[in-house]
Amino acid sequence: MRVLIVEDDEMIGAAVRRGLEGEGYAPDWVQDGVSAARALRDVAYDLVILDLGLPRRGGLEVLAELRRRRDAVPVLVVTARDAVSDRVRGLDAGADDYLVKPFDLDELAARVRALLRRKGGRAEPLLEIGDLALDPAAHEVRLAGAPVALSAREFALLRILMEHPGRPVSRAELEDRLYGWGREVESNAVEVHIHALRRKLGSQWIRNLRGVGWLIPERT
Ligand code: CA
Repeated sequence: MRVLIVEDDEMIGAAVRRGLEGEGYAPDWVQDGVSAARALRDVAYDLVILDLGLPRRGGLEVLAELRRRRDAVPVLVVTARDAVSDRVRGLDAGADDYLVKPFDLDELAARVRALLRRKGGRAEPLLEIGDLALDPAAHEVRLAGAPVALSAREFALLRILMEHPGRPVSRAELEDRLYGWGREVESNAVEVHIHALRRKLGSQWIRNLRGVGWLIPERT
């Protein structure tokens, strides 16, 4: 899941990035409105966390441009405590939710999950294929009812595959969604995680289509 953090405050930006990485997301972080607009044109993000008070170009303007292009990426607006009018304007301009600074990272993570769930159009937060179940909110995977311990990346990778059962996902797409920009990705990083997942779940769960990518069968 690729998330764009737009935040000019170093401490908040770094904390949000760390928090999201810990949850298995691939965050990119930019610190002004012009860079944000550029990033949003270049990359198909799953979610944007947008501070409104930004140098070079305000967050509301960035948001308005995004919606003018009919880009429906979920946007979580972050505002200062007293800026009630900003919150209202943010929601009017097409934000999906907002958080007031200072906020708790657990709350941020919960809002992010809720927005991603809504974006996926799933009323049920649980992803289920056969007896394999992934609960994004609880960060939990169960196979035939028994919990399976996964790393944050393994969890993120499994989630991507389970969102589209039967559809192969290419290495480029997986790398793109698992890692942000400027991250050195080892050439075999995806294989390493796939290997670990197959070992933990059973190899029948993840099929490799040579030269195409990996998929989870709709039924096993
Ligand atoms: Ca700011």
